[in-house]
Order: sequence, then structure tokens, then C-alpha cells
Amino acid sequence: MVGHVDHGKTTLTKALTGEWTDRHSEEIKRGISIKLGYADAAFYKCKTCPDPEGYSNLPTCKKCGGEAELLRTVSFVDSPGHETLMATMLCGAAIMNGAVLLIAANETCPQPQTKEHLMALNIVGIKKIIIVQNKIDIVDEVKGTANYNQIKQFTKGTVAEDAPIIPVSAHHDANLDVLIKTIQERIPTPEFDRTKPLFMYIARSFDVNKPGTVPTDLRGGVLGGSILQGEVGIGDEIEIAPGDKKGKEWVNIHTKVMSLISGGEELQKLHPGGLIGIGTELDPHQTKADTMLGKIVGKPGNLPPIWESFTMDLNLLERVVGMAEELKVDPIKTNESLVLNIGTATTVAVVKSVRERFCEVSLKRPVCFDMKQRIGVSRRVKGRWRLIGFGVLKN
Ligand code: GDP
Ligand code: MG
Ligand code: ZN
Repeated sequence: MVGHVDHGKTTLTKALTGEWTDRHSEEIKRGISIKLGYADAAFYKCKTCPDPEGYSNLPTCKKCGGEAELLRTVSFVDSPGHETLMATMLCGAAIMNGAVLLIAANETCPQPQTKEHLMALNIVGIKKIIIVQNKIDIVDEVKGTANYNQIKQFTKGTVAEDAPIIPVSAHHDANLDVLIKTIQERIPTPEFDRTKPLFMYIARSFDVNKPGTVPTDLRGGVLGGSILQGEVGIGDEIEIAPGDKKGKEWVNIHTKVMSLISGGEELQKLHPGGLIGIGTELDPHQTKADTMLGKIVGKPGNLPPIWESFTMDLNLLERVVGMAEELKVDPIKTNESLVLNIGTATTVAVVKSVRERFCEVSLKRPVCFDMKQRIGVSRRVKGRWRLIGFGVLKN
């Protein structure tokens, strides 16, 4: 779920999941957290009620009180659009299978951040988009329609051109059945291809032990994130990249899968879809406080290369995204610092050389990725990192 702060993401997620704690909302508003909030929701459909009223997030139908059937569990990532958090937003977008783009019906559309969000979805390559026009309880029909027309105008010619626009009130639980039905139809669980090797983005990592736990009771480090392809099972050997630098070489981390969690349940095997947690044999110290953010999990010997410097084929945008003023993007200069977002990884990069579209960079922190991956490029403009383009590895 992406949207500007105050569009109602937290309220809507709460309404859909029933248990959203918004741990990071305050930190995010103060711009000090790079953590992503997330929560799981279970979607149900009443066995007797017609469409769309039968769709809800409860096992008992809200309308007739009858039994509802579990359709699936989905994970919501709250990808904030606050000033300083472009990197967090791109990181959140990287682990989504689809996006719910929130727009407040009582504001003019697009807000500068809304443009940035759509651009981010574009860069990360998310095509399954649903637009939610929230807060319809505080606009009249004329204003609501005007806002709808602005949304249509704004999305014309973009990846969201054909996205359905669902008017809702997160506050009043209005039209959430239609939203759930639309999510079911437009953002299905990704297909699982058995022939592809495991590839998972790490978006969080934890030490789940309470302070003072005796060493013999310590649980190993936990990795949180999303599987893009392949499967992982309890007992599997896994490899994490980038690992540590030993001399001149980067040595990946090896460990074993001890437990798997998805949708609040312990499972034996996991496939793509939703946010998952992997319990490992790692020293919990290695995974505490999101230390593993931005790394990749795969099967041993099956991971993309590690890059400390590379040349990218860069597409600069015409205008800086995310500002009210329409500033032109100046060409890249040698020695300037950029922020790159690659999957869930964020790193500072220094430009070594530029020749036409090709830009050679040296990274502060290495990143594991391959040719398929899009690289979000931000530059500091008027006091904050702003998106100015995207690239891919040069052939
Ligand atoms: P976020 O920053 O996108 O997570 O937005 P929040 O969920 O924190 O909501 C921002 C403000 O909008 C809060 O004061 C909410 O109570 C309010 N809000 C959220 N959804 C609705 C809605 O559907 N109707 C109205 N009237 N207010 C809403
Ligand atoms: Mg919020
Ligand atoms: Zn019913």
C-alpha cells in the first residue's frame, strides 16, 4: 500500500486487518524510521451472500451472520510517502506483488508525493495497481467526482491508466467489500514455478529473544521479507548475500532454516506471496535491528553477483519527482553522491565517470543483484533525496 502521509493508509490497513499496530507510524512521521510497518489480513467470502457484499475480513459474514469461506491471507506493507522516506518507499514497493495507491478524496490530485509513488511503482515494475479514493465520507458528490476526474487525468499514459478506482471510507468501513473483491481479482497470489531457484528479498531482520534469555534457550536470528521465486523448506541450507568481506573477497553467509512463519502460522514450506519470517541458526546478534535489510536469500551457489562498483545504463527523468515546483533534472556529474535503491537495498554511491547514458558508480555498501533488476536513482535536491531516474546494469 502506498500513499502520502495522511491519506489514510494506517486507518485502511487497520480496517482490513483488524489488528494493525502501526508500530512505526510515529517514528515515520518524525522521519527517523526506515522501518516498514506491515500486517496480515485474512480475506473471506460468505457462502450465501451475493457479490460484493459477501467479501470481508471476518470468518462470520457481517451481513447475514452466516459462515464465510477463507480465501487467502495477504500481507499489507505500509510504504510511507513522507518527505525523507523515498528509500523506504522503494524498499517497500520492491517486496509487493501489487499496490493499493491511496488518494484522499478531499485533496487535489496529484499531490507531489502521489506522483513520486506512481513513479516508484513504475521503477520497481509493479503493474497490478488498485487506486483507492479514500475519505469519501467528507466530500460531496461534486467534489468526489472532480477528484475522480483528476485521478483519471493524472494516471493517463502511466502504468496505472487502467487501474480500477475504488471510492472508500476507511473510517466508516464503507465499500471495503468491493475493495477486497478487487484485490482478490486484480492482485492474485503470484504463481509458483518449481523450476526457479529460491530468491527472497530481506526487508526486516530481528533478534526475537527477550533480554536476559539464557544462552541455551536463545533462538537463532530471524529474517523477514518476501519470496519472489522458488521455495524454501525447514531444514534447507540457505545462502545470504552480501555477507562479510574477508580480505578482498565478499563471503556469503551460510545457515540453515529452523522455522518458517507466514500469516501468523508455522509452516513446513513457503512459496511466493505475502511476507514471511525465516528462523535460522544465525547468532541473533547478526540479525538484530534490521541489520540484514537489503540482502538476498537463495539456495547455496545460486545467488546473483555482488557489486561494489558497476556501470549502469541510466535513464534520467525530465523533472525531479516529488516536489511542488517542477525542477529540471541536471545531468549527472563526476564525483557527485547519489542514493541507489536496488530491491530492498539502499546505498550511497559516488559517481566515478559519466559518458552519455553510462554512469560508473562506486558503492558505499555492496549490493547483490543482476541484469533484471531496476536501480532507483536519487539525488539531493533542496535538502532531501529525490528520485531523478532509474538504471540497469550496463550490458
Ligand atoms: P496515513 O498517514 O496515510 O497512514 O493516514 P492515517 O491512517 O494515519 O490517517 C490520517 C488521518 O486521516 C487520521 O486523522 C485519520 O483519522 C483520517 N482518516 C483516515 N481515513 C479516513 C476516512 O475514511 N475518512 C475520514 N474522514 N478521515 C479519515
Ligand atoms: Mg500511517
Ligand atoms: Zn452473508
